[in-house]
Amino acid sequence: MSGMSRYAATIGLEIHVELKTRTKLFCGCPNRFGEAANRLVCPVCLGLPGTLPVLNRRAVELGIVASLALGCQVAPESVFARKNYFYPDLPKGYQLSQYEQPLASGGQLTFAAGGEARTVRLRRVHLEEDAGKSLHGDDAARASGIPGHHSLVDFNRCGVPLIEIVTEPELSTPDEARAFLEALKQVLEHAGVSDVKLQEGSLRCDANVSVRPAGRDEPGIPVEIKNLNSFRFVHRAAAHEIERQSALLAGGKPIERETRQYLESMGTTETLRRKEQADDYRYFPDPDLLRLRVDPDWLRRLRDQLPELPAARRERYRRDFGLADEDAEQLVAGLPLARFFEQAVVLGADPRTAANWTLVELGRLMNAHDRPADAIPLPPGHLVELLTLLQSGTLSRPLARTVLEDSFLSGRSPRAIVAASGVTQLTGEAEVAAMVDQVIAANPGPAADYRAGKGRALDFLVGQVMRASHGRANPAVVNRILRERLADFTAPAGTDT
Ligand code: ADP
Ligand code: MG
Ligand code: ZN
Repeated sequence: MSGMSRYAATIGLEIHVELKTRTKLFCGCPNRFGEAANRLVCPVCLGLPGTLPVLNRRAVELGIVASLALGCQVAPESVFARKNYFYPDLPKGYQLSQYEQPLASGGQLTFAAGGEARTVRLRRVHLEEDAGKSLHGDDAARASGIPGHHSLVDFNRCGVPLIEIVTEPELSTPDEARAFLEALKQVLEHAGVSDVKLQEGSLRCDANVSVRPAGRDEPGIPVEIKNLNSFRFVHRAAAHEIERQSALLAGGKPIERETRQYLESMGTTETLRRKEQADDYRYFPDPDLLRLRVDPDWLRRLRDQLPELPAARRERYRRDFGLADEDAEQLVAGLPLARFFEQAVVLGADPRTAANWTLVELGRLMNAHDRPADAIPLPPGHLVELLTLLQSGTLSRPLARTVLEDSFLSGRSPRAIVAASGVTQLTGEAEVAAMVDQVIAANPGPAADYRAGKGRALDFLVGQVMRASHGRANPAVVNRILRERLADFTAPAGTDT
């Protein structure tokens, strides 16, 4: 740690993103996660001799949309090359990947880091196919039920369409790298090109990290850390790598250009392969595929139809709905919630109230019941109904929360829940007043405290009345009656106020 401030770091990222197509990149096999192993395969994606790839138009389209969303220039022509290497999860013996002529180049992404706007330039976006998945050691034993040390291969992922996004080496801290990735994930999700489900591996990242003496301009020798499948791992791996390289430099030792692997359990990195074992992939253009030509009309159409991106959506929420920056940001960060919120507004909800209930109450329920973000179990109309019941005073806020949870779990509409259970807010003054009197009588201490000037004691008493009414009393009414009753008590005899 002591040497760290003497050194500055540079980070460049290579991000692999699975595209949301129905089928794979070069065959008709379904592109689907979570299927039983080796069910989504055919001779093409298994690389059997004599088969021919046919490029998936939709994958190209999504690749172009992603490129446009990132401000890249889409090339009129690009080329698929064979990247040759041997690994058990690559049955063809080569990966089809755009190399010398990628789909798109240039572009940039602007994001907030440490309260400031930062822009990082992109080098390129290219199309490629995914490899299969290997399971080793304990993972394999668990999956197969066969004890002992062996490996398993699942080819379902072979040929799944990916884009690779390569940044310029312009990030300088692990925090910045993570903020960049969060922003990138949002853009890709909003553009509709990927599910960006990190836990399913649909977004994976290689981090290149170098360290140089502070004050020097040109970056140091980069070390590549492969296959990080969470933003937390990117952050930790980069932080560890910066520390490791700083310590080496401080000790006068050279940094070797190498590829390292992140060890999740330790939070450290270890050498995978060194420069002298550098891969020679013997790239060459795939002879079975034509050059990819992007029709200018197609490109124009995709540009015109580009979905609304996060920055524009945030701005619209502030401008049209009067949302605070923070609310706009939080909603836009979770697209399904943002859509839910917008539909509630279209159906007549007050935007700020709807934003608040969506983020705070619905967000809490989604967490508490561990729902995936895209599986909101009630329609936006139910929230609108609930907010109407709240506004009319039929439901108190605590009661409305209970009804929302019921609706969340049962799918029933708030009106139906209220009608069935008869839970509505107590509005009869006399009923509330009776409860207030009971609570004052049962809590002489806090009542005396309040009279003695301890304002906080009132909160306690309000809470007691709310509890006695099972949340059905209106807190504002309780508050008013409590104040009246406690004031009456101290009023000198004869004064009538
Ligand atoms: P290639 O893999 O084609 O040789 P580079 O290694 O130059 O290309 O770049 C691959 C990735 O490494 C890019 O994301 C780039 O930003 C990053 N990178 C390149 N040089 C450095 C460096 N000195 N420090 C950190 N990252 C770097
Ligand atoms: Mg590389
Ligand atoms: Zn196939």
